[in-house]
Amino acid sequence: MKPASFVHHLPKTLAEAVRILAEVAPQDGRVLAGGQSLVPIMAFRLAKPAHLVDINEIAGLDRIASDGKVLSIGACVRHGAFHRAVVDNPLGRLLSSVARHIAHYPIRMRGTFCGSLAHADPASEWCLLAATLGATMVAQSTRGERLIAAQDFFTGIMSTALAEDELLVEARLPLLAPDAKFGFNEFSRRAGDFAMSAALVSYRLAGGFMTDVHVGVGGAEAVPRRIPAAEGALEGQTPDDTVYRAAAEAAAAAVEPLVDHQTDADYRRDLVRAVVRRALQDAAK
Ligand SMILES: Cc1cc2nc3c(=O)[nH]c(=O)nc-3n(C[C@H](O)[C@H](O)[C@H](O)COP(=O)(O)OP(=O)(O)OC[C@H]3O[C@@H](n4cnc5c(N)ncnc54)[C@H](O)[C@@H]3O)c2cc1C
Repeated sequence: MKPASFVHHLPKTLAEAVRILAEVAPQDGRVLAGGQSLVPIMAFRLAKPAHLVDINEIAGLDRIASDGKVLSIGACVRHGAFHRAVVDNPLGRLLSSVARHIAHYPIRMRGTFCGSLAHADPASEWCLLAATLGATMVAQSTRGERLIAAQDFFTGIMSTALAEDELLVEARLPLLAPDAKFGFNEFSRRAGDFAMSAALVSYRLAGGFMTDVHVGVGGAEAVPRRIPAAEGALEGQTPDDTVYRAAAEAAAAAVEPLVDHQTDADYRRDLVRAVVRRALQDAAK
């Protein structure tokens, strides 16, 4: 199949992009970033946007910057940018260890970090990372700039709090403490496939006890999210396999699993149990 016909807009500035988006959004105008999700959907005619606002020629949107507290990731930063640590902080190493799980190399060199967030696939690694670490999304429209916390951003399967005329210009991730520990694990049937479940954890050790614990699960529910019951099972504990098992059990009990052609609810709970425990083991390495 070929896509239905559309008008291709190629703005050179952000102001021009949001002006065009405001005009075309009511006629199903969409932003085109890396095209790695939108173009296949269009090729299958599951989406037939009449206008595409291509943001790839806007200077500055490929910027990655850190002010010592926050890492800002522009709308055209590709997944592949994170193959190396982009910041001298545990977050740089975490991003790099997660990036290699996303699709395959050619897709990582086109697809964007912010495009993944805007697309909001429940199994997206970046959506999980944003939800777990408490990212802030910066949305721009002709009405101005709006900040959206990750917990309010993901509203359902492939659905976000972005208005149809808003462009996600930047995602901001809090840097991790220099002594932060982190771990990631995902299960997919084949390397490069979307995860059927994934977990990301971070914590610090204070006198040998776990503190500032974040446990996030993706791919298991409609939206990725932190799991307070699992975090509670770890906070104040010394890291060992007994507490990892307790946290994994709490996470499995807390999720309302997606059921699809690949899994039933029980199997997906089993996967959640496994990926949370493995992510904790990964963090301890
Ligand atoms: C074979 C294959 C395997 C894949 N495996 C994985 C995987 O394992 N994990 C994973 O996370 N992803 C995977 N992907 C998807 C890939 O990561 C995409 O790059 C990503 O989901 C979307 O980013 P993009 O820049 O390509 O967005 P596009 O395809 O350009 O856009 C996707 C959607 O987001 C909107 N959008 C994009 N950018 C913005 C913005 N800045 N502001 C507002 N709206 C915006 C578009 O309008 C569109 O609706 C896979 C893709 C393929 C083809």
